Amino acid sequence: MKCNNCGCDNPDDAKYCRVCGNVLQLESFFEKLSELGFMPTTMIMLKGSLGATLLLYLLELLFVIGCLMVIGGIIAFLDQPVLSGNACSAFVALGGFVCSFVIAYVSFKYKLFDKSFPNRYVKSELLKEADYIQLDFVNDDDYTFIVKNKKFGVYSVRRYEIQLPAIYDWLSWKIEGQILNVQQNGRQYIMDIYGNELK
Ligand SMILES: [Zn+2]
Repeated sequence: MKCNNCGCDNPDDAKYCRVCGNVLQLESFFEKLSELGFMPTTMIMLKGSLGATLLLYLLELLFVIGCLMVIGGIIAFLDQPVLSGNACSAFVALGGFVCSFVIAYVSFKYKLFDKSFPNRYVKSELLKEADYIQLDFVNDDDYTFIVKNKKFGVYSVRRYEIQLPAIYDWLSWKIEGQILNVQQNGRQYIMDIYGNELK
């Protein structure tokens, strides 16, 4: 391969000219990504939380008990000849309903399904949003970089959500987890983690 700066010959796989140091071939985008610790989203295996799984199973058991209380309470209510017994059955049914409702709310609010079985729930969502993800995701950082169609974005590891969509030409941390260096459409600027440009 001839250097287009000084004209001397170089081996075909050389990245830089041995005489003048001119760049002979730019690294491909994907070589650069793997150097930065990105890997294809399809290849990641996410670790589930044992605590969340145990809590989920416990809550599911209580949920079933709550549902049985509702059914049992209603059957007993319809079956009671005595007024005081009726009030008791209604109380059991209502208690079971409130209990089941609260448990279901807690399970979804704290994303216990996602945390227990991330490969089933989180990964399938992530595959739609990102082609590549930085390996830091496996650690317990708050945020990690993603790449989709050669554009960079940020993923919130804690909330299992896209924090910033993959629309930037380049992103790097200025202050880890807070302020980002951005390149977009030939411009360079800094912005916060919510996508607001900073002066
Ligand atoms: Zn050269």
